[in-house]
Amino acid sequence: MKSQPIVAINNISMKYQSPEGEIAALKNVSLDIFQGEFVSIVGPSGCGKSTLLNIIAGLIAPSSGEVFIKDKKVSGPTTMVGYMPQSDQLFEWRNIWKNVVLGLEIQNNITEANIRFAEKLLRDYGLGEFKHKYPSQLSGGMRQRVALIRTLTTNPDILLLDEAFSALDYQTRLVVSDEVKQIIEKENKTAILVTHDLAEAISMANKVVALSKRPGTVKNIYNISLTCNSHTPLGCREAPEFREYFNTIWKELDVHA
Ligand code: ADP
Ligand code: MG
Repeated sequence: MKSQPIVAINNISMKYQSPEGEIAALKNVSLDIFQGEFVSIVGPSGCGKSTLLNIIAGLIAPSSGEVFIKDKKVSGPTTMVGYMPQSDQLFEWRNIWKNVVLGLEIQNNITEANIRFAEKLLRDYGLGEFKHKYPSQLSGGMRQRVALIRTLTTNPDILLLDEAFSALDYQTRLVVSDEVKQIIEKENKTAILVTHDLAEAISMANKVVALSKRPGTVKNIYNISLTCNSHTPLGCREAPEFREYFNTIWKELDVHA
């Protein structure tokens, strides 16, 4: 028996009203995502990737179509979903610790175990020393890590990551994406990553969804299977199939094709 998808996106279309007129951002997007999957969504800039994540997160309502999470229709934000938006959205007047526990605070869920988990994440990400600093005192990469930790702290089943690693320098980006993938796998979470970095998309995911240019439609879905000893994203880039996927999807995304 085929299991039920944890996230079911059914025929989503999205039109924004703007002073310049109507902007069609997404058109007839359908996608099933299963428990434990890591799905990367790639597509040209402005094709509606962030819009799609916002709709899944229940932050905006689509013009038509529906999203179901665990068979429940999405009609607003839920604690099952942890969303890390494209900008880190840290609060400048709160120190790092206060930013990290914000999600727990909002959920009224400050327990001893959750505090310990948040502290561990901060240490694991090399931010233990920065607890009492303020966001303006941190580099862009560090801020991004704080935002990620804040998302992980509430222990959501589904993680939505919008260009989550884009503010990091290349080296840090590889390390952090390795760590995030490990955490997600270990905790058997489901993740949806939006990225413009195709290598990152392929090395992290079981599935890569290629969207067309605006209005975004699903052009193709690739099941990724890489033979590599180490299952870290960095190790996966060494897999013999990696380049093949890369070239195929790269061609698919070529707006001039
Ligand atoms: P992506 O994340 O793929 O770059 P977005 O989802 O951010 O794309 O945006 C898709 C399109 O919708 C873009 O053309 C963008 O300008 C437009 N758009 C996004 N948000 C709004 C909004 N709130 N009002 C009007 N247009 C918007
Ligand atoms: Mg975006």
